[in-house]
Amino acid sequence: MSFSESYTVKFSTICEQTLFSILSKEEQTFISEKAERHRFTLQELRQICEISRDLNMWGEASIQQRWRHFPVGNTTGKAEKKTIINQLKTDWLALKEHATHYPIVEAISLPSQKLKLETVDKKQLGLGYCPVASERTRCCNLVTLDAIDNCGFDCSYCSIQAFYHEDKIYFDQSFAEKLQALELDPNQTYHIGTGQSSDSLLWGNKHGILDTLTAFAKANPNVILELKTKSKNISYLLEHEIPANIICTWSLNTPIIISNEEHRAATLDDRINAARQVADKGIIVGFHFHPMIHYDNWKVDYAKIFHRLQASFTPEEVALISFGTLTYTKSVVKQIRQRGLKSKILQLPLINSDGKLSYSEETKLEMFSHAYQSFEQWHKQVFFYLCMENNRLWEPVFGYAYPSNEDFELAMKRAYIAKTAAI
Ligand code: SF4
Repeated sequence: MSFSESYTVKFSTICEQTLFSILSKEEQTFISEKAERHRFTLQELRQICEISRDLNMWGEASIQQRWRHFPVGNTTGKAEKKTIINQLKTDWLALKEHATHYPIVEAISLPSQKLKLETVDKKQLGLGYCPVASERTRCCNLVTLDAIDNCGFDCSYCSIQAFYHEDKIYFDQSFAEKLQALELDPNQTYHIGTGQSSDSLLWGNKHGILDTLTAFAKANPNVILELKTKSKNISYLLEHEIPANIICTWSLNTPIIISNEEHRAATLDDRINAARQVADKGIIVGFHFHPMIHYDNWKVDYAKIFHRLQASFTPEEVALISFGTLTYTKSVVKQIRQRGLKSKILQLPLINSDGKLSYSEETKLEMFSHAYQSFEQWHKQVFFYLCMENNRLWEPVFGYAYPSNEDFELAMKRAYIAKTAAI
């Protein structure tokens, strides 16, 4: 076998360990030609494929367009290869480090969604602790209740993709019986959220899910039940009597992020209008800014929402405002690249941050401080917190920090109880 033939065999083997097979035909042809000439190692090929995938997803000039402009001078052989790969990495890192620019689009065109709604008989009630909490972050010890498994909104950054691999939404057919049988300590206060493994309102009262949750909240006044959503599907809440210990929270983002990254969720106007109607019904509401995304016009765009909320709601109506940002595990980054949606959600430095990949601490501080300061009039009456962030950030952002997760949890519950008791 000639040297050239043996590299071809080796190339097809190392390709299997990279993203090569999911690249476009044009990218594959280009990279194969370059591999033939430069003899990429596995590590080089892996990086080239990842960069190519990222550029394609971000809508940036392709690897083919960039390659031909790389100045190689008189270099040849290994020196030439090194120059080209270094230049490619430099371009890619520069895109990750500069504030992202989003195009103004009505909405990204997505393939039509073929979700299958299935009922299953789960062995046990999906009750647990927040799956993304970590020992290295200051966390509220949220108890999660999986009324439904999987979400239909398809947000490009969502870590649910790493937990569920199919386009199926699962409803537990004996959810009501299981929840009724749940024994809670009457002397304890519980903060339970249903919006971690799915959207709490997207499916309305399908399979009686909201009837069950409402009855559960009514029977257990020591529970604060948080319904978290990006939808405008509030008809059930408007048409039924809702116990005071149910709070309804909206995850909000700027219009440009919604149209580029939260493809199938309700618009910002629809979410805020829905929250307004729910608050008019006497239900306590809250808002999550998670993930806040750092892009060129982030400061102005988020400030508009912060001011709009303060003009549209009274602090008595609002239990909480939370801030957080993009934090990924390596497996979620891999999943996002595999899906290959047009998205700039990986166009950030991906710096190691408490065991996950995220923005630099400096960027986080800038975003969270800007957000908190924008809500100055509400500081004393609304509970503010950072979700999934290290305790180090609390003091510089809020001017205080909790010594432990338990202290944070207690303060949060006290604040929510005070709010819901007042209505
Ligand atoms: S702070 Fe956020 S990540 Fe931590 S437990 Fe609460 S909801 Fe989960």
